[in-house]
Amino acid sequence: MIETIPLPSANLRDIAVLLDIDGTILDIAPTPGAVIVPQSLRQTLTRLSRETGGALALVSGRSLGDIDLLFAPLRLPAIGGHGAEIRLSPDEITESEHAHVLDGKLRERLAEIAVDAPGVLVEDKGYSLAVHYRLAPEQESRVKEAVAAIKADWPKEPIEVLPGKSVVEIKPASFHKGAAIRELMQHKPFAGRQPIFVGDDITDESGFAVMPEFKGMGFSVGRRAPGTAHCFAAPSDVRRWLERLSGGDGTRPL
Ligand SMILES: [Mg+2]
Repeated sequence: MIETIPLPSANLRDIAVLLDIDGTILDIAPTPGAVIVPQSLRQTLTRLSRETGGALALVSGRSLGDIDLLFAPLRLPAIGGHGAEIRLSPDEITESEHAHVLDGKLRERLAEIAVDAPGVLVEDKGYSLAVHYRLAPEQESRVKEAVAAIKADWPKEPIEVLPGKSVVEIKPASFHKGAAIRELMQHKPFAGRQPIFVGDDITDESGFAVMPEFKGMGFSVGRRAPGTAHCFAAPSDVRRWLERLSGGDGTRPL
């Protein structure tokens, strides 16, 4: 049974909307570069940003530069690189934490996983590395075993291995979305508001985990994640819900 996700009863000026991108507001594509941003979503986000007084932020594993390219000309407050980068307002120059960068040799070893493995794609996201096998699902166990073996070769490196949807992501353990959301929520226009964070993957769970600190709510996509109040079936449902929330379909008086 598909749940109907209620709109928050609070005024839009009292909430902050925080959105993961891939698998949450965008359908997952065969490769990260092949995702499509529907024009209607750009319009919804523009409207929602205006109606919330700017308290709409994107929270992604992608870099801020990549996020801006995807949504151009729209520019929003954003958390990039799983929390390695934070931009509090659209006009602000990127505020980057000096995050621990992955060791060069470690990156090389991870990149080698794609050698002689057609369909396996290594994406250097700057602060993290992702090994995708969506185009070669039969490679799943080989990829996971290779990543585990490489991690074991760097026992002192504080790295975290995050399995996602047809992807394994390797990132420094020193930052995560939850810590970055906590930071974002200290600043205007987010401070003092009730956050709603929507995400779909393991990397979003640190974000759901900090919601109670701000009396916020977490919504997951595709599966009920720990610490969430509701679950959307698919990104298209999130997009429709955001449209309703923004008042875009005329059902919410503003
Ligand atoms: Mg996602």
